[in-house]
Amino acid sequence: MSAAFCDDLQVGQAQQAIAAAVRPLDLAERVDLRAALDRILAQDVVAPLDVPAHDNAGMDGYALDGAGLDCGETVLRVVGRGLAGHAYAGEVPRGAAVRIMTGAVLPQGCDTVAPLEQCRLDGAHVCIAPGLRRGDNARARGEDLRAGSVALAAGKRLRPADIGLLASLGCAEVMVARRVRVALLSSGDELRGIGQALDSGTVYDSNRYTLWAMLQRLGCDVLDLGLVADDAHALQQALRRGCAHADVVITSGGVSAGDADHVRRAMAELGDVAFWRVAMRPGRPLAFGRIAAGGHDALLFGLPGNPVAVMVAFYQFVRGALLQLMGATVPEQPLWPVVALDALRKKPGRTEYQRAWLQRLDDGRWGARVTGSQGSAMLHSMSQAHGLLVLAHDRGPVQAGDLVDFLPFEGLV
Ligand code: AMP
Ligand code: MG
Repeated sequence: MSAAFCDDLQVGQAQQAIAAAVRPLDLAERVDLRAALDRILAQDVVAPLDVPAHDNAGMDGYALDGAGLDCGETVLRVVGRGLAGHAYAGEVPRGAAVRIMTGAVLPQGCDTVAPLEQCRLDGAHVCIAPGLRRGDNARARGEDLRAGSVALAAGKRLRPADIGLLASLGCAEVMVARRVRVALLSSGDELRGIGQALDSGTVYDSNRYTLWAMLQRLGCDVLDLGLVADDAHALQQALRRGCAHADVVITSGGVSAGDADHVRRAMAELGDVAFWRVAMRPGRPLAFGRIAAGGHDALLFGLPGNPVAVMVAFYQFVRGALLQLMGATVPEQPLWPVVALDALRKKPGRTEYQRAWLQRLDDGRWGARVTGSQGSAMLHSMSQAHGLLVLAHDRGPVQAGDLVDFLPFEGLV
């Protein structure tokens, strides 16, 4: 590790420290199935029935007893018809078959479906081409899920397939974790709200909007505390308000060691705050801790002000903590090895994140090109990029052609 960064926590250490400090809220609510998308399942869902609930046809064709298949062509007498929702209720004697459509209940004694395209009708008989094996194209009762088995485990973030699966089990409602309440503020005398005039030296506050958007994606309830000046008292007031109403307070700006950086002090006065400089770029200043006010306490993340640093810090530290609060099973972030198409400067001793585009190479692999200048205020390149190259802590400079880890934005919801 280079001397310049030896006081800083490594990214992985900071993530572990946060994970160790976060206790799931353990609060659940019952919601309609359609309101459960992207929410965190609070209890295991046990299948109340077999799925499918009956043996049924996997294709349109003829249902038969596979024991009667011949080596060559099999000829069977057609004795009836079964449709989805309208089962054939009669007997199927030896040497007989039932015309059947996909999803129809298999008649008693039938375990195989000959697909239409392998069948030829000859009067009242069906001639089935050789090659069909017993059990082909039949779906067995309970083959997807058995009654009594865990269909979805608590902690799962519900995706469209899960919503459909719950519907297939007849669940109209589901218990999900209560949304995390997050209070949000931006700090900086130079910040202006949308609609205000931009006088000299001022910038629009974008971080509250970026953070709001990332929090929406995670299904959080957001309390917007607005813009707060570079003033220790005003910051403390805002943090108190956030703490009284939210599970988590997130600030951006004013967290480094500059003359106008008051967030650290305001935090320290309200609680037990571990201040970290994390060995990363962008996003080195990052404060995390717990504050208390008015009989409530809240986790607090003091994020840096630079707009790209805010996003990187959110994805690396805040996102996991919020999911953990909701009891989510947090999977490791997928990092995909891709080919660096540019040489990249990199110092060992910190994790670096570079915005990059992916492109398919002639040899079929994926290559990544960085989005030009990597200034941590440049939100436009964040908007253009497909994701981040993650250059590991101990890694030195990257040569064009080297493999590097890529973290896609899609999927980071
Ligand atoms: P700070 O961390 O307060 O030193 O801010 C670092 C840089 O980020 C400065 O250029 C700030 O103007 C900018 N910045 C801070 N907060 C915001 C914000 N909410 N929206 C846009 N830029 C910001
Ligand atoms: Mg500032």
